[in-house]
Amino acid sequence: MSRKKTNTYTTRRVGPWSNTARGDSIYISVYCRGTATHSHDKWRIGSITAQVRNGEIFWADSTAGYADHSQDVLHRISPGIGQYLVGNEWVPIDRVSDQDIYTRDDLRIRWRLRCPVCGFSREIAQPRRIYPILATLATLREADNILEIPVREFARRVERLNE
Ligand SMILES: [Zn+2]
Repeated sequence: MSRKKTNTYTTRRVGPWSNTARGDSIYISVYCRGTATHSHDKWRIGSITAQVRNGEIFWADSTAGYADHSQDVLHRISPGIGQYLVGNEWVPIDRVSDQDIYTRDDLRIRWRLRCPVCGFSREIAQPRRIYPILATLATLREADNILEIPVREFARRVERLNE
């Protein structure tokens, strides 16, 4: 992998908690605590949040941070899980506007779910394909509109979709 392709995604995390309030959106928050035999402290990978655009549900990486049951504010996540590409070139996130995300057909979005503690990593190349999973998970959310799910369980559901 060439160096210039990593640019903004190598940004270090600053945090932990931000001042950004959670809002009323639905959040599916993906975290990692390792495996049963090799557990580790909770690592917040990222939240996916539902937005309504032109009457259609659109699931997006919560760039403002991770939604957690225990807090009314979002936990800073940097880099987020969303990566943007045009062709095979990265587009730095600060050059992608919200408008671009919904309107540019040439812009590819993918989600990278990665835990640096245990090394678990999965890429979701076409987030739209997993909308049915997100819709199902959303029904399991708690009263605060958040569903927190371990990354391995999330990945299993995605893999089942591909069978
Ligand atoms: Zn982990």
